[in-house]
Amino acid sequence: MYITVLASGSKGNSTVVASRRTRVLVDAGLSCKELLRRMAMVGEDPGKLDAILITHEHQDHVAGLAVLARRLGIPVYFTEQTHRAWVRMMTPRTTMTYAKWLEQVQREKLARAEAAAAKVPSYAAAEQADARNVEKADALRAAELESIAGISAEAACLDPALNRAADSLGGAELPVEDECGPVKSAEVKANPAALPKVEFFEAGWRFTIGDLTIDPFTIPHDAADPCGFVFEADGIRMAVATDLGYVPPNVKSALKAIDVLLLESNHDLEMLRDGPYPWSVKQRVLSRVGHLSNEATADFLQKDYDGGAAFIVLGHLSESNNQPELARLCAERAVGDRMRLLGNRIVLAMQAEPLGAIEL
Ligand SMILES: [Zn+2]
Ligand SMILES: [Zn+2]
Repeated sequence: MYITVLASGSKGNSTVVASRRTRVLVDAGLSCKELLRRMAMVGEDPGKLDAILITHEHQDHVAGLAVLARRLGIPVYFTEQTHRAWVRMMTPRTTMTYAKWLEQVQREKLARAEAAAAKVPSYAAAEQADARNVEKADALRAAELESIAGISAEAACLDPALNRAADSLGGAELPVEDECGPVKSAEVKANPAALPKVEFFEAGWRFTIGDLTIDPFTIPHDAADPCGFVFEADGIRMAVATDLGYVPPNVKSALKAIDVLLLESNHDLEMLRDGPYPWSVKQRVLSRVGHLSNEATADFLQKDYDGGAAFIVLGHLSESNNQPELARLCAERAVGDRMRLLGNRIVLAMQAEPLGAIEL
């Protein structure tokens, strides 16, 4: 079994996890072209990928998803809520302002009421009940949209680079189709979220792809339904756990008996505090649905980690608010004398270049 981190950080995340017979990509947060370039760099054949798994809908995890999945013709695994959030991001209507959207909802409601009034009474009653349900769903959608709009407004305070760096994206920007996809079919034009195949999984429920067993677990992060994964094949277990505000009990227990642990070490608390982000973004990163600091990661490694991994890969390092050597030092101190030749080796997954395969 092996794991290859193609990219890790707030400008894009993607990791290959492979067993003897199955190969999956966890997240596709760079452009399709860049993902293919990085796969070529590490000798990874994209044609051998069986599926793409998505942890959550933030841009740094899905930027190249649609184009890559369509190009490779492979299924994409989401939770249902993450898929819904992603589709909303991909669909142009989510770019309209909240006021405009509300206006449209009102117009639709009026049209429905008029249509209902024109029908025979029994029919109209059913229609009205239906309209009430639709109204409820609309209100729910409006609230969701507002929260996305809120995030977008906040992100808009930042320049685009910071915007991505803050991993605050929610539905802020639509991914740019790059030139590596085939010519857009009419279907793709009509539906930018069209995928070859969508499969749903649920956090807490094990599923398999080929000979790879996958245990998705919920992580605390400001997305619709974010997940981490534990992959298992031939008795080897590898975990991906990035984008979490803190380490809750369910994550602690998911991360037991792991052989290769890709764990977030996002920021140095002091650097974040004194760094360039606006106060609101600092607050988000620091919050319980933000990102793990070097200190929080060290705390986990010291108190809750069972010490059994061959490799600990530190990932999702902030380029503005962290230094790779700070993250490493912090983790090394926490692992302490458990670090040895064959166990607890600490390596860093970076943004700019892939990390060669770690094979067990
Ligand atoms: Zn992220
Ligand atoms: Zn995120």
